[in-house]
Amino acid sequence: MMIFFAHGALRRYTGGMENEMQDGVSALRDAGWTPQEGFMRVALRQAQRAADAKEVPIGAAIFKGSRLIAQAYNQVEMLKDPTAHAEIIAITQAASALGDWRLTDCALYVTKEPCPMCAGAIILARIPMVVWG
Ligand SMILES: [Zn+2]
Repeated sequence: MMIFFAHGALRRYTGGMENEMQDGVSALRDAGWTPQEGFMRVALRQAQRAADAKEVPIGAAIFKGSRLIAQAYNQVEMLKDPTAHAEIIAITQAASALGDWRLTDCALYVTKEPCPMCAGAIILARIPMVVWG
């Protein structure tokens, strides 16, 4: 698995957001959070659902601490929507679940490296940690 701290690598693109993202990472660490294979298994199960639906097999899951708040799979063909990537759908679910578009203390697990569209959405949602593998 690859762990990506968005606040570091993308600092130059984020303007004033890096402090907010750093706060999210600190909150995750303070909570004793560490990446766990079980979290990725949730994303992998979603990827299997995509494969079963004849979609490109990509799955994503978002956790707040150890609580699962969103899980989704790629639905581009089913919805006839080029933006219906697993990460985008999961981010929308997570924002709805929390009642806040700022996902500053969440971690996103996804079965492949996010594309540029999804990377942009991850930054806009202030998700401090992305794990892919
Ligand atoms: Zn994408």
